[in-house]
Parts: sequence; C-alpha cells; structure tokens
Amino acid sequence: MSLSDHITARIRAEGPISVADYMAEALLHPSYGYYTTRDPLGAKGDFTTAPEISQMFGELIGLALAQCWLDQGQPQRFTLAELGPGRGTLMADLLRATKGVPGFHAAMQIALLEASPTLRARQARQLAGHDPVWYPNIAELPEQPLFLIANEFFDALPVRQFLRDGDGWREKSVGLQDGTLSFGLGAVAPQPALAHRLEDTRDGDLVELCEAAQPMVQTIASRIARHGGTALIVDYGDWRSLGDTLQALRAHAPSDPLKDPGSADLTTHVDFEALALAAKSAGCAYSRLTPQGVFLERLGITDRAQALAARLNGDALQSLIAAHRRLTHPEEMGNLFKILGIFPEETAPPPGLNA
Ligand code: SAH
Repeated sequence: MSLSDHITARIRAEGPISVADYMAEALLHPSYGYYTTRDPLGAKGDFTTAPEISQMFGELIGLALAQCWLDQGQPQRFTLAELGPGRGTLMADLLRATKGVPGFHAAMQIALLEASPTLRARQARQLAGHDPVWYPNIAELPEQPLFLIANEFFDALPVRQFLRDGDGWREKSVGLQDGTLSFGLGAVAPQPALAHRLEDTRDGDLVELCEAAQPMVQTIASRIARHGGTALIVDYGDWRSLGDTLQALRAHAPSDPLKDPGSADLTTHVDFEALALAAKSAGCAYSRLTPQGVFLERLGITDRAQALAARLNGDALQSLIAAHRRLTHPEEMGNLFKILGIFPEETAPPPGLNA
C-alpha cells in the first residue's frame, strides 16, 4: 500500500480532510511519511538549509546564544535545545564554536526534538560524545533556563487554510475527484481564531492557521519567562501571512503538493505574528522580525568568512564566497528568511536583534 492509497481510503471513510491533516499524513505518517522514511537534506535530497550551506551559520547562532547565557548571569544548569535538528550539523557547529566559552559546555544539557527516526540516528552519530537527549514533546523539557534554536522547523508543521467569504471562512480541504486527490472547499463558518484577520482581508483571500505552533511557543516562552533563556526562531515567512504558501519540493524543484504524498517535502511560510503573540501571552518579550542577511551581518559573518578565506584557495574559496552570498544576499536567503528572538521581559534582546 502507498501513502496515497492510505489517504484515499481515509477520505472514502471520513470525507474530505483538512490541509493540516493531509500535511500531517504526508510528512509524519509513521510508516510512509516523508520525514519518517528518509534524510531529505543535501544535494542528493530535496532541499538544503542554512547550516548545510555553511558552518558559519551554526557558529554564529551558537555564539549569539552563548552571549545571551553570559548576559543572563551564566546559569549553572540550562537546556540547550534544538527543534528539528536535521542532520545535527547546526548543533555540531554551535558546539565547536562555543567550546571556548568558559563554563558553557559544563552547564548545558542538550535536548533535541525530532520526529524522524532516520534523522535521530544521524543526529546521534553527529553529536556522539555530547550526550543529547531526545524529547517526544516540548512540554517535557526540564524546568530550567532554556536556550533554543529552531531553523526551518515551524515551516514543516501542518497548517489549516481558510478562504474569506463575507464575515466567515470556508476551509480548504483535500478530497477525491474521480478517485484522485484534489482540493475542495467546506461550508462557510465563523472562525474565532481568525477574528483579527477580518480587518486586513477581503472576500477570496486565503489565510493559514498553524494550530500546532501556538502551544509549542507558549511552552517555550513560559520556560524562558520563569527560568531565563532565549529562543531564536529562523524560517521563511512574514509578520502576518497572507495567501496560499503551501509548496512541495522534490529534488530541489517545486512540484504538485497532492502528487505522490510522502515523496516530496511540504512546507508553508511561517506567520511570525502568531508566534510572537504566543510568546507574549506566556510572559516573554519578542524582538523585531529581522531578515537573516541583516542578522548574520550584525553577528559578524563577513569577518568570519574572511578569517576562513585566509586559509582557503581554489574551489574551497569559491564555495565559501558563494555560501556567504547565499546566506546573506537579499536576492538569495537574506531577505526571505527571518529571525524572531524570544527572551525574558527584563533582559535586552539577543545579539543581532532589536526590541
Ligand atoms: N533544522 C535542520 C532541518 C530542517 S528540516 C536544518 O536546518 O538543516 C525540518 C526538521 O524538522 C527535520 O529534522 C524534520 O524531521 C523535523 N520535523 C518536522 N516536523 C516535525 C515535528 N512535528 N516534530 C519534530 N520534528 C519535526
């Protein structure tokens, strides 16, 4: 049986399912899900990410978090967490860069949240010797200061999609047409969670709602508000998302999200306003949403690139220059990707970010 057969049987039994339910099946089905069955990263996979492009990304994130730890009085026990660590590359670069920060490694306990058994195995190999612990959900993270990074994690969480119709909304669904998966629309209904979107949308506009993200961010922020810490959330998206941003990527090229579920990555743009408001409701401050290029420049990526360049030549030097450009240039990842910092109300924002 394929995942497509399984989803088709589910729709025959239950009727059309929400886009969120479809994404959850396609990405996380225990036997056939996209993430559960493979390592999707890198040149041979379907997409690549900032830490896979250059070691500089994880190094600078690590130093930014270590600076927050220093600024908050070097708590002697803290959780160093990563959500969706992929191949463990960012965490490995972060750990190498922070080795020289006195006391940081001795005080940290590494906590990882990872749905994919394939990637968990890779992370275990990459981080051998650092005793990471995998947690099944955020609520189980220890009650202690929390320093956290999530790069391209929130874009993988399922979203529901709603089309504005008068003062109500029609939910987009996945059903069957002539036996083939196809999009449909539910009946008009009020959506209290979208009350604030009645002010900036018109009939026919589509908005996305990521119901999984809000409780996760609230839990992270309540740890930080209570015990101290900092979270850096890096992803593509905007302050307030508008429009259908569901996309499928297969072998680095866009493809049809309903074709052959489980074989392509599915993502949506992150609605950072929703994350910021969840952090605030749990008692934390949040930074201005900052483009990745600006953030990395402020953290000194160009100095770091020059230091690395001094030891390189030929192809290695060309690829370092290309990586620097790819991470920071406004026409590459520099503007599309953004950083939101979450931090205790009484402290200054993390390095590279403004209040
Ligand atoms: N942060 C990494 C990988 C990004 S890909 C990098 O930048 O390279 C998304 C990651 O999130 C993968 O590790 C994927 O398996 C994980 N993931 C996706 N949905 C998840 C969920 N619901 N719970 C836990 N991990 C999830």
